[in-house]
Amino acid sequence: VEAVTVDVLVGWLSAFRDAVHEHGAYLTELDSAIGDADHGANLIRGMDAVMAAVASPPEATGDLLKKVGMTLVTSVGGASGPLYGTFFLRMATASGDATSLDGPALLAGLEAGLEGIVARGKAEAGDKTMYDALAPALAAFSSSLDGGASLADAARAAAGAAAAGRDATEPMLALKGRASYLGERSIGHIDPGAASSALLLDSLAGALS
Ligand code: ADP
Ligand code: MG
Ligand code: MG
Repeated sequence: VEAVTVDVLVGWLSAFRDAVHEHGAYLTELDSAIGDADHGANLIRGMDAVMAAVASPPEATGDLLKKVGMTLVTSVGGASGPLYGTFFLRMATASGDATSLDGPALLAGLEAGLEGIVARGKAEAGDKTMYDALAPALAAFSSSLDGGASLADAARAAAGAAAAGRDATEPMLALKGRASYLGERSIGHIDPGAASSALLLDSLAGALS
């Protein structure tokens, strides 16, 4: 696609909903190792609620994304609901009244979203959180666009970087969230939020290709 319209964004969300259903057991298994075994269920509940909330989508991308963020904040308990919710709420503010986003505008929205996650959860690189998948993904998205890549190719690069970032959380010591209570025992497991963030970026790449 050349422009990210509301329909394209709904396609992204729908693909992410499908992905958390397909990989929900895996996300929960990751969370059972270093958390409380609810990450898959949390995101399934959240994304089912999101898709119900956007059944008749508003015209502006910002209005759509705001609905997504509010729905995640209110329907998902735990850490990931407010964090993913804040991601979409900040992306909504950045997108505003636009009915479609070009590459740089989409990137700006995603970056604003990540800043929201950091503002809320204070994660830094290497803390073993969703940040460790999202930050390299957005860096790859940005450098791909700078290099003249199409939206689809930039999103593909971002998804690849997110997957690498997810895998890189395995040897990390968790310093944020529930997993941090485990101390050294958090080492040797992939972070569930990094895994779901990799699905979010993979879904975006699918929706943009
Ligand atoms: P909970 O831990 O409350 O049960 P989830 O299991 O749904 O919530 O989500 C856990 C994920 O949330 C973690 O794997 C991690 O990626 C992410 N997370 C937790 N705390 C933070 C934080 N402070 N900053 C960024 N991400 C965080
Ligand atoms: Mg959990
Ligand atoms: Mg929980």
